[in-house]
Amino acid sequence: MTVVMDLETLVERWERFFQDCCKDKIESAALLYPEKKSLVLKHEDIDRYDSELGEYLLDKPYQAIYAAEEALKRIDVAGEIPHHVRVRELPEATRVEVRDLRTSHLGKFISVNGLVKKVTEVRPKLQDALFECQKCGAVIKMTQSENVIIEPTECPADQGGCGRQSSFKLLTEKSEFIDAQKLELQESPEGMRGGAQPMRIIVYMEDDLVGDIVPGDRITVNGILHVQARRRGRMKLTEFNKVIDANSIEIKEQAFEEIFISEEEEQEIKKLSEDPLLHEKIRHSVAPTIYGLDMEKDALALQLFGGVPKYMPDETRIRGDIHILLIGDPGTAKSQLLRYISQLAPRSIYTSGKSSSAAGLTASAVKSDEFGEGGWTLEAGALVIADLGIACVDELDKMAPKDRDALHQAMEQQEISVAKAGINATLKSRCALLGAANPKFGRFDDYAPIADQINIPPALLSRFDLIFPVTDKPDKERDDEMAGHILEVHKYGAMFSHDEQVEMDKITPAIPPDFMRKYIAYAKRNVFPVLSEEAIERIKNYYVDMRAKAKETIPFTPRQLEAFIRIAEASARMRLSNVVTVEDADKAIEIVEYYLTKVGMEKDLDSFNIDLITTGITKTQKDKMKVITQIIREICREIDAPAPIEEIVTRAQDEGMEKDAVERLIEKMRREGIIYEAKLGRYSLTSE
Ligand code: ADP
Ligand code: MG
Repeated sequence: MTVVMDLETLVERWERFFQDCCKDKIESAALLYPEKKSLVLKHEDIDRYDSELGEYLLDKPYQAIYAAEEALKRIDVAGEIPHHVRVRELPEATRVEVRDLRTSHLGKFISVNGLVKKVTEVRPKLQDALFECQKCGAVIKMTQSENVIIEPTECPADQGGCGRQSSFKLLTEKSEFIDAQKLELQESPEGMRGGAQPMRIIVYMEDDLVGDIVPGDRITVNGILHVQARRRGRMKLTEFNKVIDANSIEIKEQAFEEIFISEEEEQEIKKLSEDPLLHEKIRHSVAPTIYGLDMEKDALALQLFGGVPKYMPDETRIRGDIHILLIGDPGTAKSQLLRYISQLAPRSIYTSGKSSSAAGLTASAVKSDEFGEGGWTLEAGALVIADLGIACVDELDKMAPKDRDALHQAMEQQEISVAKAGINATLKSRCALLGAANPKFGRFDDYAPIADQINIPPALLSRFDLIFPVTDKPDKERDDEMAGHILEVHKYGAMFSHDEQVEMDKITPAIPPDFMRKYIAYAKRNVFPVLSEEAIERIKNYYVDMRAKAKETIPFTPRQLEAFIRIAEASARMRLSNVVTVEDADKAIEIVEYYLTKVGMEKDLDSFNIDLITTGITKTQKDKMKVITQIIREICREIDAPAPIEEIVTRAQDEGMEKDAVERLIEKMRREGIIYEAKLGRYSLTSE
């Protein structure tokens, strides 16, 4: 049933509703003008008072809102009456996915959920245009409602003009403008797993709606779908673009609001959390078709849950997310693992460091004419889109240099600031980063420091909580089992593709991915574990003991201490426990030890050395660097000039060093800023 109402009836109905239900609201909005320019209503409230009006509003929103704004003008209050009527919380029936928008929705009030991919700068849009008649000089007003300026064709006598056909000049200074902004809404990734390309739609915002939305925001747009002409050159095409005129926008504040968990599911989630085999089941579900890599899978499982972010009284924030890097030989299932995780983690994204997207990993402000007019546009990159989830970035070593710089801030502060042209925004990137990278020289060398083998600056490497080398070395027993596993996976996969009845315990995840996603969302939403005294004691003792034991190296810095905490918290969260126990602390120690044994071990000294990761300098190299520093100091003093490289090498050889090694170390010291090349082939100490 569609309600039919003429304009005057509509206005009167709105007026009655405003008088009876909204007087206070209108008065307080009027007092706050111009900060508040809108009367914001819930659809439910209108519907309860006058269900025909509520229905009419959904069916003919343009007329209904126009009438509401007319009715507002009739309300008598002190101050400036709000200019707009905005309606939020539309009924469920108005909800449409971006990909389901059809002609039948044109002109209707609809509600669309999604992720903000881009926003344009805020720009003035011509509203009430004043034109000057070039024949008689009369000033003519024309309200603009199209995207292109509509000029008068003749000079209207009813506005005091000459009534003749004429040409007109737009009086920009005297015309009225309104703030306008566009955004690109991308359908929520939750609704479209399985590699489908996300669909997008352009949303128009005006006046007080502008300026509040940033890329990465999850929003509900309540607005009216309409069409916009497309042109090719000067020709107008018969196929139109769909756009939404926003009436109101709701920003989602709660994490994973898009994931619905029923009461039965909540019961099942709690039941699973008490399963004694929980840990094994989760590990097995991380990537069942991939053989081995148990510890890595454990770590990835913990990353899915993450630690607890902390907000300190001084407004700083410490991240809870666990950043993990997989580095290793080609063909060792790194990419596969990343894809699995991006399927399992709520709000996650899989991308490649060398992807050509303009937004890259972080964000970009670009002059773009995608929206049709060549203005500035701010676009969210992978780490913003994955806010509160996991950003899986393959080939991280191949990322663009601009991302490299922005990544520091994104990983630690978990936000990205952009200040460029008309755009000044801080985007949230509260996500965990799961990166994969290949070694520079093709294969991973167990004996060389990791920082030397990978094309990622040490400062960035040290931001990862865990780094796992994944190597592929011939090992008869392991090869045999792995080959067996892979062959079996393929055999069952082929059978499964044709007959779904085939049993495949080995490779069917113990926990189905959809349920796992809900389990994780539930945990992240409801569980915030706190360290127990025993857990604190355990981690502290381990940290202090290890630092005391390692006489010649620094095994950990406070950064690793934070990693222990995050991992222990994640371990508690995995079983939905609000308390971090000694067992959780032990799990964290086990995983960090495993990782440091692989990449942070000073082989000669049999102790951990965090410098291997943060600077790529081994203890032996450090000792040699000391010697070289001493040599350079001596030469500089003797000749009172920068030391020539030949002389440094000669003296270092006298101390028993190899020529190649010396040259490499000099290069390294230069990169580290310990020395600098004062003249070609001549070095000085930076500190002297
Ligand atoms: P990478 O990204 O490390 O170069 P990929 O993820 O592309 O490697 O893996 C290459 C192929 O080898 C994939 O099809 C993957 O399934 C298979 N593969 C490699 N290692 C394993 C493993 N441990 N178990 C099962 N399959 C594996
Ligand atoms: Mg790969």
